[in-house]
This record gives sequence, C-alpha cells and structure tokens, in this order.
Amino acid sequence: MKRKALLYKKLADKKVRCNVCQRKCFINDGETGWCQTRLNDKGDLYTLNYGEISSISINPIEKKPVLWLKYRSEPPIIMASTLIVPGYIEEQEVRSIAKFIATIDPQIPYSRLAFYPHFYMQNLPLIEKSLARRCLAEAHDAGLDKVRLGNKQLLI
Ligand code: SF4
Repeated sequence: MKRKALLYKKLADKKVRCNVCQRKCFINDGETGWCQTRLNDKGDLYTLNYGEISSISINPIEKKPVLWLKYRSEPPIIMASTLIVPGYIEEQEVRSIAKFIATIDPQIPYSRLAFYPHFYMQNLPLIEKSLARRCLAEAHDAGLDKVRLGNKQLLI
C-alpha cells in the first residue's frame, strides 16, 4: 500500500533525502531509493509497501517476547522485535517502530534485542545498558504496554 512516508527531508528542486536507514538516499522526483520501496512523488516521499509483510525469519523462541503469552488465553497474532544496533537502530528508530506498532494494537508484545558484533559488523561496539534503557522507555512512551529487553547478557 502506498502511504506518505516518515523520516525524510524535503530538499530543493523536489528532491528528498530519506533517513530510514544508513544509506540515506538522495531521491529525485519520480525516482525510488536504493531499496525501491520509497518513491519521491513530486517532492513528497511515499513508502510503497506500507502494511505489507516484507520479510519473515525463523529465530530461537527465547528471543521473542514469549513472556507475555502466559498472561493471555490465546497467543497474540503478532509479536514484534527489533535488534538495537549502535549507530543504526537506536532511540529514534525504536520510537518510530513502537509508534507504528501502537497504531495497530498497544497490546502487541514488543522486544528490543541487544546486538552482538560479528561477521561484517565486528567493528561495532556492544550495546550499553543506558542505551537499552532509553530504547525501552521510548517503546513505553510510544504507547505500548508489553515491552521488554532481550539478550540482556550482551549489555555492557
Ligand atoms: S535504501 Fe530505502 S530506506 Fe534506505 S535510505 Fe534509501 S530509500 Fe530510504
């Protein structure tokens, strides 16, 4: 679904700069960014896949916010999690994601997971506890009731 995007800046000559990810694409009128999911339409940025499933992955169940399942008679239809990555996914991104989730249902369980630097991202630091706490607060402030932090053993 096409929908007006968040997190972009209008520039001269109907150009925009997308701030969703680290690529920070400069996008001319009528063109899309590198990901081909964000379109500059006459100087406004639109996301072309709003509300659509863009990826699915299988992860160990203990990473998920399953803590909340014992408080419900049935499993929730959606549980969400976000990996906090220093310099990439921090408070601002968690706030935006949590606000989006809250518009669907504030009862959706949401976990933030601490990043561990490995493979191509070994140059990044571990997550500090203070950043993890700020991300947790942002998710609460965005209106979500069931938020938690996973991978706590990785925090420094
Ligand atoms: S790749 Fe896509 S999401 Fe990332 S900055 Fe470019 S347009 Fe935005």
